[in-house]
Amino acid sequence: MLTNRSKVVVDKKMTFSERIYLPAIIGGLFITIKHFFKKKATIDYPKVTREMSGVYRGQHVLKVDENGAERCVACGLCAVACPAEAITMTGAERKPGEEKLYREEKYAAVYEINMLRCIYCGLCEDACPKEAIFLTDRLVEVSSNRDDMIFGKDKLKEKYFNEVDITKRLTKEVIEFKKDKFHLHNQMD
Ligand code: SF4
Ligand code: SF4
Repeated sequence: MLTNRSKVVVDKKMTFSERIYLPAIIGGLFITIKHFFKKKATIDYPKVTREMSGVYRGQHVLKVDENGAERCVACGLCAVACPAEAITMTGAERKPGEEKLYREEKYAAVYEINMLRCIYCGLCEDACPKEAIFLTDRLVEVSSNRDDMIFGKDKLKEKYFNEVDITKRLTKEVIEFKKDKFHLHNQMD
């Protein structure tokens, strides 16, 4: 009786109906039949997909500019802002002749996000001064192999001519937020 919550076990004799189990079985069947006529809570994914909110935070995209050049300058602000320490990158200098590939003199030769660590908070997106990284409504592919869940540029970089629409995320409020002098690192070009 340490906690005063212990229950006294009553060795009560079962009634006739309890002993034949029929009422309990019928009650169980009734509950099952009731669920046949209810709207399903699940969907037949991936044949059927749900409509996502425009600001749903799913798989990231590394955006390219209108000429197909990578916007990321490997400044590291997204990595610093990331509370899960999920982002790593290696910066490199652009060489003459690579202007079509990289928008500025510096770019991320390696850019990786550990999707197992990511909590989809969107802080990397908020921190980026170059509008280079956005979360999208794309679902992250799953894998039973941990190494597959480290997404590099091959999975993150936007394909030229196959742009990922981020207009719903880039709202007036977001643009204003990025202009806020308090967030000096977020000054736009
Ligand atoms: S969404 Fe959040 S947790 Fe994921 S990479 Fe960006 S900052 Fe890190
Ligand atoms: S903050 Fe933007 S520009 Fe800087 S490294 Fe991250 S994605 Fe690239």
